[in-house]
Amino acid sequence: MTGRLNSDEGIDLARKALDLMANNSVAPTAHNYAVFTAYVADSNQELSSELQLHIDSGGPIPEALLEDFYDRFFTFKRIQDAVMDVGGAMSRELGAVVKMLETAERDTAAYGKALEGASGKLDETTDTASFKQMVEGLVAATARMQRRSRELEQRLQETSQEVDQLRTNLEKVREEAMTDALTGVANRKRFDESMRRARRDAEVKGEPFSLILCDIDHFKRFNDTWGHQTGDQIIRFVAACLSRFSADTQVVARYGGEEFAVVLPNTSQHDAHTIAEKVRATIESKRLLRKSTNEDLGNITVSLGVSQFKASESVECLIERCDTNLYKSKQTGRNRVTVDGQEGSGSRSAA
Ligand code: GH3
Ligand code: MG
Ligand code: MG
Repeated sequence: MTGRLNSDEGIDLARKALDLMANNSVAPTAHNYAVFTAYVADSNQELSSELQLHIDSGGPIPEALLEDFYDRFFTFKRIQDAVMDVGGAMSRELGAVVKMLETAERDTAAYGKALEGASGKLDETTDTASFKQMVEGLVAATARMQRRSRELEQRLQETSQEVDQLRTNLEKVREEAMTDALTGVANRKRFDESMRRARRDAEVKGEPFSLILCDIDHFKRFNDTWGHQTGDQIIRFVAACLSRFSADTQVVARYGGEEFAVVLPNTSQHDAHTIAEKVRATIESKRLLRKSTNEDLGNITVSLGVSQFKASESVECLIERCDTNLYKSKQTGRNRVTVDGQEGSGSRSAA
């Protein structure tokens, strides 16, 4: 689909997207809405045909898959556009500088010729008047050269500032593309990257490396009772709590809708367990208030799984083991932490 939509068409598309999301039990998040609007508008063929397959299969569409769609078709495109912008601006800047250098080269050659001519004339010149004229000519040529060099220096300085600015902008876009917009913690893309890096470091240095997975308990119920926006507030609260207990070298990420992960390089399972337990107990103990009305929302709980990396295993294998521990925490009553080879622990009450 190309061109601008009139408002009736826009409303029609929005309605179709929301209906389709509801029919497929897709959470009404901004990212999912973007994906489904693009689908009903048929604005991206690749997205449409891939999503069609999942809709046709009739089963629930996993949250992680929709997040992946968003990353691939929206976030990645934004990075590409930004890189193209920066690339274009850089080549324009460099083009201007190259032109200036060419002019400077011509001027230097002319200046050299003027000097050469003067040195030749010096042998022939006998009268003061022509000698004076020759010196004046040289002074003027020297002044022109000095002016040119100053201009060139200034231009180069401006260019280097411009390039620094472009680099900062690009870094900002890259950072944005790796950050979850709702919570400000890392997104799935940075999580994947951190896991690969932590695994490599653990293999090379022989250090321990652990993973925490955390999922909010009965969040569907919470959303249904208090609404999606208040649900979002809770997601932010859990992200902040995980960040509070994690060190700078540990990466807190939003792994899926209401699921989080903490990548803990150079951390034993024992230390990871301590962090997970602090997070669990803190969240359980907090009474939550609705921001807009100060209404008492009661409290929420989270279930967690903790696993330590085993030499040579894949990142996927570690995630799967940790997810099994998280699942055990859910199965044994929620509001628990489960580590490898152990049943859930730390719950005061089954939520
Ligand atoms: P369990 O204790 O077994 O984890 O129960 P649950 O209800 O939390 O389980 P489930 O994972 O099935 O439900 C997650 C819900 O999270 C479904 C969806 O509506 C909601 N959700 C997913 N992403 C978002 C989001 O970005 N914002 C809000 N408010 N809700 C979300
Ligand atoms: Mg979940
Ligand atoms: Mg849940």
